[in-house]
Amino acid sequence: MSKLKAFKDASCESIVSEYLSRIEAKKELNTFLQVYQEEALERARSLDKKNEAGDKVGKLAGMVVAVKDVIALQLNPLTCGSKILENFNSVYNATVVDLLLKEDAIIIGKTNCDEFAMGSSNENSAFGKVLNPNDLTCVPGGSSGGSAAAVAADLCDTALGTDTGGSIRQPAAFCGVFGIKPTYGRVSRYGLVAFASSFDTIGPFARSAEDCAKVLEVISGFDFNDSTSISRPVPKFSETVKLGVKELKIGIPKEFFQTGLDTEINNSIVEQIKKLENEGCEIIDISLPHTQYSIAAYYILTTAEASANLARFDGTRYGYRNPDSKKLDDMYTRSRSNGFGDEVKRRIMLGTYVLSAGYYDAYYLKGQKVRRLIQNDYIEAFNKVDCIITPTTPTTAFKLGEKISDPLAMYLSDIYTTSANLAGIPGINIPIGFDSKNLPIGMQVLANYFNEEILFRVSYFLEKSK
Ligand code: GLN
Repeated sequence: MSKLKAFKDASCESIVSEYLSRIEAKKELNTFLQVYQEEALERARSLDKKNEAGDKVGKLAGMVVAVKDVIALQLNPLTCGSKILENFNSVYNATVVDLLLKEDAIIIGKTNCDEFAMGSSNENSAFGKVLNPNDLTCVPGGSSGGSAAAVAADLCDTALGTDTGGSIRQPAAFCGVFGIKPTYGRVSRYGLVAFASSFDTIGPFARSAEDCAKVLEVISGFDFNDSTSISRPVPKFSETVKLGVKELKIGIPKEFFQTGLDTEINNSIVEQIKKLENEGCEIIDISLPHTQYSIAAYYILTTAEASANLARFDGTRYGYRNPDSKKLDDMYTRSRSNGFGDEVKRRIMLGTYVLSAGYYDAYYLKGQKVRRLIQNDYIEAFNKVDCIITPTTPTTAFKLGEKISDPLAMYLSDIYTTSANLAGIPGINIPIGFDSKNLPIGMQVLANYFNEEILFRVSYFLEKSK
């Protein structure tokens, strides 16, 4: 059920003021990199006036939104959580930002994230780590940790994040909120700083399935400025969310319920499956046989794309330039060495390696072939079922510092999320309860291309039947 209050229970101005004071009170979470206090209040007042005058207001009127700081907001800083872009301001708005503003949303600020969206814990930001509002000693997940934590801590109504390998669904699971990764191509990437262009997607976090659906409905659609965006009608997610789940065929892939999965998460998912079965869903055991290769394929292909995308940050055109270099080469080297953090450098090196002559066939090309096999697994599965249920993460939120010195352990926390990005299909995280440590448990639902409607319907049903 929608959690929005604007115009029903309160004026936009009072809602924004309340959020601003909560943001101030919860500063220790380090969720926001920028807060647009004056602009947000001004916009709220003008919306209140519009409403009082009886003028028509947009679909998101009064919704207070935070935006992950890898998405451009004209004339405002766009840091990507990186020192290299610390002083960079965007020249234009991302398409998603224009769409939000057109429907009268209020943008309250930009959220913290892992540097260039690379990470699973939000400990890779040059501007400090984000804390999990459920337990301050735990990570909020990453890379959209600031957005997930801001929604969970009630610092805004909804937030935009990005998902290249799980960065919306995994932090949503760790923080206990809804978060959807749309089908690749559903939402324009224009104005999103690219990490791995054939994987990157933008999607919303919210405290209800309905609010999540409202935002996705507004930001979806073809965009002339993004050649990978798809021209297809956008369903009215905000209405179809309530259609129910009767007679849905739900697949349970055995590969996602093997060793390594926390028992409490497993049990909690089994309970949800029972609820769905009682409601008339058909539960079908399925297999996605290439699942075990998804982490390897993901980290080969995304680092390759990242090494190409991040070549543009060389001190010449954007952001930080090392002031002490005498020669051009030296300036490139020093600007990149000082500007990027360790994880970003690790990925640029890995990506450059897998693309280099002599290794290209063995790694990059092989990775592409595996990607196709994983995609085929899903295509085959969706001939039999309408959606697939899996855990979002193998464990609940882990401790700050626990995995930061072991990149492989960190990469493995994406085990259940990366395959959706390799295939390009949509997926959602549904918060389904808490474990014995009082940390949120998340369940992932995946659907066929452009079938986000089913994800919202399952989410809405389970939210209501809590
Ligand atoms: N945790 C994954 C990574 O570090 C996913 C990142 C993302 O989805 N942006 O690559």
